[in-house]
Amino acid sequence: MNIFNQLTPYPVWKFFGEICSIPRLSKNEARIRKYLLDFARENGLEAKEDRIGNILIIKPASPGLQNRKTVVLQSHMDMVGEKNADYPHDWNTDPIIPVVSNDWVSAKGTTLGADDGMGIASQMAILTDKELKAGRIECLFTVDEESGMTGAINIEPDFFSGRILINLDSEDEGVLYIGCAGGMDTVGTMTYKPRPVALGSKAISISLTGLRGGHSGDEIHKGYGNSVKIMNRLLWNLSNSFNISLSSFDGGNLRNAIPRESFATIVVDSQSIDKISQWTDNFYREILEELGEIEKDLKITHRETGLPPFIMDKESQDKLLSALTCCPHGAIAWSKEMENLVETSTNLASVKFGDDNKIKIVTTQRSSIESSKRDVAAMVETCLSLAGAVVIHSEGYPGWRPNMNSEILRITGNSYKKLYGRSPNVRAIHAGLECGLIFEKFKGIDMISFGPTIRGAHTPEEKIEIRTAKMFWDLLIDVINNIPVKQPGNY
Ligand SMILES: [Zn+2]
Repeated sequence: MNIFNQLTPYPVWKFFGEICSIPRLSKNEARIRKYLLDFARENGLEAKEDRIGNILIIKPASPGLQNRKTVVLQSHMDMVGEKNADYPHDWNTDPIIPVVSNDWVSAKGTTLGADDGMGIASQMAILTDKELKAGRIECLFTVDEESGMTGAINIEPDFFSGRILINLDSEDEGVLYIGCAGGMDTVGTMTYKPRPVALGSKAISISLTGLRGGHSGDEIHKGYGNSVKIMNRLLWNLSNSFNISLSSFDGGNLRNAIPRESFATIVVDSQSIDKISQWTDNFYREILEELGEIEKDLKITHRETGLPPFIMDKESQDKLLSALTCCPHGAIAWSKEMENLVETSTNLASVKFGDDNKIKIVTTQRSSIESSKRDVAAMVETCLSLAGAVVIHSEGYPGWRPNMNSEILRITGNSYKKLYGRSPNVRAIHAGLECGLIFEKFKGIDMISFGPTIRGAHTPEEKIEIRTAKMFWDLLIDVINNIPVKQPGNY
């Protein structure tokens, strides 16, 4: 029995059910690609693919509507495979088992793949909709969105012709997305000289834990503590009042996470150990007060430990601590177009003492404006290079700058108000989407992103709210029906 029989819009759920049975993890899209190409052939639709594996399927304009602007509908073919540890699932062969329960559809033990299976299913339902009277529709299915966006990165600038694009990869019914941030990494490497530990010294290990961390895009403006910044502040202040020598400093982990923990080992002369302990406790109280409720679980502890094999030379230590003091972290600028949107930010993500007397400092910059992203990356580069670090930038990916005067935004907003009697929320996100890459390559393209409500994406708890699938569909159809002609007044 098909569990989707009772759900509306039935064609969307029918295709979604079929997609669930096709394994389609990122970089493993051969079967879903074949499925889509077979679907196009069986329905007599023109289809093409590019070298990287993206697919375009075209629904020609209905008779008499050839003069309407072409609209591109976009989804991604791949999905994230996460499962509960005790659930047996082979991602190469096993189908996803969807489960309908109350108002939601989820999957048994695994991610559901409504991200972005609902986008794919809606495109297929539109491509086969005999009732729909519309201009030319180009359905773009990209590969590998979830693990590197290589499909969007490598798309050729003539792969599709439309200059209105609706991205079907958002997860909040009632929200229209009109912008995203671009990103890049800036990584500095410093080299120090190891020095022997003086006789009669003592070593103290300091540990800083319990911060919230969070996503370096979505949560950068929340004021959470940065464990690298706080540990560095402690060390920098200690080094100004006492004779301390740094032997190791290890903080943060992922480049796209705000660092939650840091650990350091310092060597001091034995007489000052009590004073340093006391000073550190005072510093801890001061920081707790400064951060307040938001970081009440922060812990800074210290204990005497065995002497390390070496310390770093004083000059390099001063440079490291100064560079990390200068290095910015957090929101740098707010959008001039949209309220409460971080435009530009930087995350001081990690500092690690590695082999060969090298210290690696990893940072990430984001902005919806390309030039601002490069500017904040230059700011970080300068802090690090003044301290003698060798600095490298990653190539990065571009952002999508919000345009409040966008035609597709106006059309979609009007459709939403007409259907649901209220205004949708219009937002941009301070993280990367494929739209940024498309925006950069297809000059002058007008884009929007919306979708049904999905919760817990990328986890086995992923679920889609059934009623929002219908709301999403009705909105999409109404927007398509309202795409204007190519030149105003030229019917
Ligand atoms: Zn997605």
